[in-house]
Amino acid sequence: MKKQFAVIGLGRFGISVSTELYKLGHDVLAIDINESKVNEIVNDSTHSAVGDGTDEKTMRSLGITNFDHVIVAIGDDIQASTLCTLLLKEMGIDSVWVKAQNYYHHKVLDKIGADKIIHPEHDMGNRIAQHLVSEKVIDYIELSDDFSIVEIAAPRSMDNHTLMDLNIRAQFGITILGIKRGKDINISPMADDKIFENDVLIVIGHKNDLKRFEDSN
Ligand code: ADP
Repeated sequence: MKKQFAVIGLGRFGISVSTELYKLGHDVLAIDINESKVNEIVNDSTHSAVGDGTDEKTMRSLGITNFDHVIVAIGDDIQASTLCTLLLKEMGIDSVWVKAQNYYHHKVLDKIGADKIIHPEHDMGNRIAQHLVSEKVIDYIELSDDFSIVEIAAPRSMDNHTLMDLNIRAQFGITILGIKRGKDINISPMADDKIFENDVLIVIGHKNDLKRFEDSN
């Protein structure tokens, strides 16, 4: 279903979020205080506008309150990012995601009601580290300090076995959420579904258990 997103701040992060959302077929309003940044995104957004994210009047006139999701991607200017987030929450926008610069910024954003706080460099660093230490891990999402979702290549030892045979939840305390086979993906697989070599498993669990599972193969 088509969703409506507004992205405020068109640095490297804001531009890549806007472009990707637009490519995925969603409506994107891209806003920056700097006209040259706005010109860069004209062809990769539904609408684009020059505007100051900390100015309530401007935001209202751009119809920001009609958006279900707003992403605040104002970079270095922590004060502007914080004020913009506060205004958006005061205007009643349901889902405000904000790029944080550091730990203090994160704490303030949390207090004023940001719905999701993103640390792109930190998250990307984590993901890359996971790839580096284990060539089996294909992708990695950190859910909390303890829990993650990983995509991992199915070990050869599982080839042609059903989930019931493998009994992974009992053995490792982790859950297989999906099985990718080429372009197909089997979401919430059944006990009698089989795993084959070259499948990719999407697994959720405690990091220690996931590590134990990776190391067991
Ligand atoms: P990144 O690290 O993602 O490249 P930057 O700090 O380079 O982030 O970019 C942030 C963007 O936010 C810049 O394009 C800047 O013009 C924009 N910006 C800064 N303050 C405001 C504001 N008050 N309203 C809207 N956009 C802003």
